[in-house]
Amino acid sequence: MSAYQIAIDGPSGSGKSTLAKGVAKELGIMYLDTGAMYRTCGLAAIKRRISPKDPAEVKRMMGEMKLEVKFIDGVQHMILDGEDVTGQIRTPEVSVAASDISALPVVRTAMVDMQRDIARHQSFVLDGRDIASNVLPDAKYKFYVTAKASTRAERRLAELQEKGDFSQSYEEVLRDIEYRDEQDSNREFSPLVQVPEAIVIDTDLYTIEGTREFLLSHINEDA
Ligand code: C5P
Repeated sequence: MSAYQIAIDGPSGSGKSTLAKGVAKELGIMYLDTGAMYRTCGLAAIKRRISPKDPAEVKRMMGEMKLEVKFIDGVQHMILDGEDVTGQIRTPEVSVAASDISALPVVRTAMVDMQRDIARHQSFVLDGRDIASNVLPDAKYKFYVTAKASTRAERRLAELQEKGDFSQSYEEVLRDIEYRDEQDSNREFSPLVQVPEAIVIDTDLYTIEGTREFLLSHINEDA
């Protein structure tokens, strides 16, 4: 099969990245986490102490900063101004900054250009919010992964606590998820949308393995 792309969209905490990683491994293809790119932009704003909602400040920042995506042994690393910041982009503060900054067209245009460029020559699984609707409307496979907000908050809380972060309560995590859902779905530029042709996967209904098998069954059917 020549190079092909699998688009996996869905809201925060729906299990997209676990699914995308598992599918990429199973198929022996690359995985691009597009959220990590917006997170790196959010982190850049925090580091420069500028508001991720201020279009003029963010525009200046985007002109100055250097963001790179590197794959080391097949694993994605985010490099900001020469520093590997992969380990710094998963905090609750960065999540909110990423959601805020990703609403700005100057940021989205730059990230989408990079994503298209990265995924063009090799087979890739990409996860995000706008992969099927905007980044790669011609992707061969399109999936929309979802789950109830309460399930997504429980998962996010468990993930944070696994990393030893007990700073947030369930209610705070749920509030963050609802805030990001609202922003990601209602922003003017390239919001989270479910394209009509996408196959919907409700991760409330399956185990992680079940979800992966379900997705792969659609790929194999067609191969
Ligand atoms: O997927 P993740 O939660 O890491 O993404 C962080 C934020 O980046 C999201 O809340 C969303 O606002 C933004 N994002 C986006 N478009 C994408 C991927 C992520 O706007 N393709």
